[in-house]
Amino acid sequence: MPFIGKDKSTGDRINILHLEDPRRELTKDQVVCPYCGSDMFIRGHLRSKPTIHFVHKDICPSSYKSHPESPEHLYFKEYLAKNLVTEFSEYSEAHVELEFPLDSLKRIIDVAFKFPNGWIVAHEVQLSSITPFELEERTRDYKDEGIDVVWWLGKDANTISNRDWCHENLSECFVIDYEILQEQTLL
Ligand SMILES: [Zn+2]
Repeated sequence: MPFIGKDKSTGDRINILHLEDPRRELTKDQVVCPYCGSDMFIRGHLRSKPTIHFVHKDICPSSYKSHPESPEHLYFKEYLAKNLVTEFSEYSEAHVELEFPLDSLKRIIDVAFKFPNGWIVAHEVQLSSITPFELEERTRDYKDEGIDVVWWLGKDANTISNRDWCHENLSECFVIDYEILQEQTLL
């Protein structure tokens, strides 16, 4: 359930959250998946913004690892993209990209901060259940590419063992208050 699509004729990246009225600004056949080129349509409505997003008609056949995302996951990605720049002063020079595809890993970073000197910091939102072993594995994938990763743990992923893992391996742990997040996305 992505926020990013591709303009079929120009090849430009389209972030649905940057549009005032997506159904008026985009025509029905204009948007395709950036990874496989299949048609996408719009789900949701403006009142529920920012949960409005593009939908793939079928399962994406590209080799990018994707996973189903809840409205809370979508909302929080956008929230991070908007707010981390103001919270971390060193991010002010960075270019923020939601759903940034990493060709080498065939993985899509939830929110990527790309610095002018080439550094990338990945922020990953994890609400579904995950084990410390999986966190370790995914963190190692990023490490092999020289990419720092910050995990935001919420809901089923916010367990003592995962928090301990983050403290031990990344020296800090970021936690999402899922109750508040749910209130915000259900409005
Ligand atoms: Zn696709």
